[in-house]
Amino acid sequence: MEFKKSLKLANVFYDIRGPVLQEAKRLEEEGHRILKLNIGNPTPFGFNAPDEIITDVIRNLPSAEGYSDSKGIYSARKAVMQYYQQKRVANVDVEDVILGNGVSELIVMTTQAILNDGDQVLVPAPDYPLWTGAVTLAGGKAVHYLCDEAQDWYPDLDDMRAKITERTKAIVVINPNNPTGAVYPKEILEGILQLAREHQLIVLADEIYDKITYDGVEHFTMAALADDVLTLTFNGLSKVYRLAGFRSGWIMVSGPKHKARDLLEGLNMLASMRLCANVPAQHAIQTSLGGYQSIYDLTKPGGRMCEQRNLAWEMLTAIPGITCVKPKGALYLFPRIDIRKFNIQNDERFVLDFLREQKILLVHGRAFNWPEVDHFRVVFLPNHETLTEALGKLEQFLSSYQQ
Ligand code: PLP
Repeated sequence: MEFKKSLKLANVFYDIRGPVLQEAKRLEEEGHRILKLNIGNPTPFGFNAPDEIITDVIRNLPSAEGYSDSKGIYSARKAVMQYYQQKRVANVDVEDVILGNGVSELIVMTTQAILNDGDQVLVPAPDYPLWTGAVTLAGGKAVHYLCDEAQDWYPDLDDMRAKITERTKAIVVINPNNPTGAVYPKEILEGILQLAREHQLIVLADEIYDKITYDGVEHFTMAALADDVLTLTFNGLSKVYRLAGFRSGWIMVSGPKHKARDLLEGLNMLASMRLCANVPAQHAIQTSLGGYQSIYDLTKPGGRMCEQRNLAWEMLTAIPGITCVKPKGALYLFPRIDIRKFNIQNDERFVLDFLREQKILLVHGRAFNWPEVDHFRVVFLPNHETLTEALGKLEQFLSSYQQ
């Protein structure tokens, strides 16, 4: 007898760590060194967390041995509340904050809490695929609205509107966006909020890259733009504070909470079923959010993240057959590849061919629920020298590639 995975996993995918990564691991076991440009994990590329955060966590370790409140320790939740008060989100309270083991856990909890079988959620295409996977796992249906490459990858509001049905429960907005690097203007966010208002939808705002923007582009917290739309804002320490391994994130609930008592009771129940988030990492939140924000040293002109974004974009767009919208935020580029020129039928195969030949790992566009085979994602976290070498190898590889 063969032991099978459950049927509810049949259509659940997370290909960023899927088959292409398996192949990379196999090559590593053969003794090859693989440059992994597949995940947004800042620390291995020398983007370390600020010392003061680590010191604070160490100092608090002796008092972090036991479980905490299911929603998290008070000081951290208060710091999150104050963070959003400063952003002028109306009417928020410590009780509206739930801490989790990274945004990932909170995405899975939230979709479980809000969806009945067959309920629909509007999710961007391309997306960060955990959203589609979590909606599917919860019995819901991810309906993808297009983000328009010709319009700097902004969400297409007409497409979004056309896809709202009686079963639509929520809209996911990832801003700044992974994988496109788009940062949305206020008008687009207001347009989405208007749709949510008209159709009584919950806004699920994934703002984990909120402080990672370039060229002086301003990030708008969606929750601050409307106090009459139920909004769950997701954020955490993985990116801005380079603490992905701590697994620390939060949800901030805002808007007409009096209409969501039952839903929030469900969410709290799920939080209590997993007892609490990792307590030592909760102690990193207050010190992260307060005081000096070292991320701006990295994102300003001359800062490492900004310069690497520039370099990667310049090198990629100089390759014949590649075009790319310049990212205004986050850690990724999502270039378009001329599929006719290279006769590409399968984007995963393209990524595997490049991996096997040059030992560099990218992620194919369809892993982000992009409907065509004409994109891939690359992380621009490696230093100048490594990026130059890697993208040089891509150019060389493509100079003779035919699928
Ligand atoms: N949301 C987005 C848009 C992401 O890019 C990521 C990680 O890459 C996550 C959520 C998950 O973050 P966490 O480390 O907090 O689980």
